[in-house]
Amino acid sequence: MTASSRIIGIESAVLTGQRPRSAGSNARLGAHGSTIRLPIVRLTSDDGVVGFGLGHIQRDQATQLLGSTVESVFTSGFGVHPLWTSIECALWDLVGQQTQQPVYAMAAQYSGHAVPSTLRPPCYDTSLYFDDLDLESDTAAVERLVGEVRDGLERGHTAFKLKVGRGARHMPLAAGTARDIAIIRAVRAAISPNAPLMIDANNGYNLNLTKHVLQETASCTLYWLEEAFHEDRELYTDLKQWLAANGYPILIADGEGEASSHLLDWARDGLVDVIQYDIFGYGFTQWLQTARKLDSWGVRSAPHSYGNCYGNYAACHLAGAIRQFTFVEWDEAQIAGLDASAYQIQEGHVHVPNLPGFGLRLDANIFAGSVEENGSALWL
Ligand SMILES: [Mg+2]
Repeated sequence: MTASSRIIGIESAVLTGQRPRSAGSNARLGAHGSTIRLPIVRLTSDDGVVGFGLGHIQRDQATQLLGSTVESVFTSGFGVHPLWTSIECALWDLVGQQTQQPVYAMAAQYSGHAVPSTLRPPCYDTSLYFDDLDLESDTAAVERLVGEVRDGLERGHTAFKLKVGRGARHMPLAAGTARDIAIIRAVRAAISPNAPLMIDANNGYNLNLTKHVLQETASCTLYWLEEAFHEDRELYTDLKQWLAANGYPILIADGEGEASSHLLDWARDGLVDVIQYDIFGYGFTQWLQTARKLDSWGVRSAPHSYGNCYGNYAACHLAGAIRQFTFVEWDEAQIAGLDASAYQIQEGHVHVPNLPGFGLRLDANIFAGSVEENGSALWL
């Protein structure tokens, strides 16, 4: 470990990539499209080691960081100092490169867990949006979504999450809800009966609509219900009692986006089963800290990760440090200049490389071109 090494280079640029197909709307938003923009920060230390990761840094921050020792911004027992959360992936990667350890090994040590000899966290395909809004018939919509599920199966997925809440904004309420139900039933029939199938309403249902959809899909054994409506103690208490009374073993998942400040209290009290704070908005280091509490309460962790592709890889590295880690959310895309080929999805699990840092590689020429075109560089 070269803890006293200093940071002598800070470069940032945006790389771009493509999803295999365009992602449609969800209950709140319009189409998400196929293009992904991935902001990268790359750090070089004076021992010649380079680390990079998804991140943002302003010029005044970079000026402040330049010449600092790595140990002033990252300590093994504490992770990344809160001031530097916006570049924490680059710092975890840099220290992993310096110490020749995967980030998951550092994270496990941080949490006091044994370092796993191999890391194979379960993942799910999160790409199933409202890709059917141009279709008049539910039959055609179902066929399209089932076709997308088959694409996911071919990519090695076994678990899937469906966006629901078509009737919240994009379709009339009754027709959109009926289509949600038809798609859930058809997708369940198209995958293994035991494979996890989740639904995510992006707060587009209300309590009664939620109960209606769950009743109509009772034979589909849904694994979790995500963001049915904005989290609320009264409504979740009612829903939990109703689930128990009906014998539906469906988990309640929530916490991405603008989560209630009471969410963790409700998780502790058994009203929310799966916490989904964003892997970057909330942060890798803060996830490690919060997961200690969640593990002690028996609450599950499944970090939200969508729209940048990098989260597919970063979230895996929490899996050896969090006992109740449940799923990596996988938003398939290829980013020009980012080599993630060491990661593989097989039978619903991510095979995480036993390589230093996050185990990803940047193409030097493409990154240099992007720094030139849209980024910045600061050297000591
Ligand atoms: Mg969601």
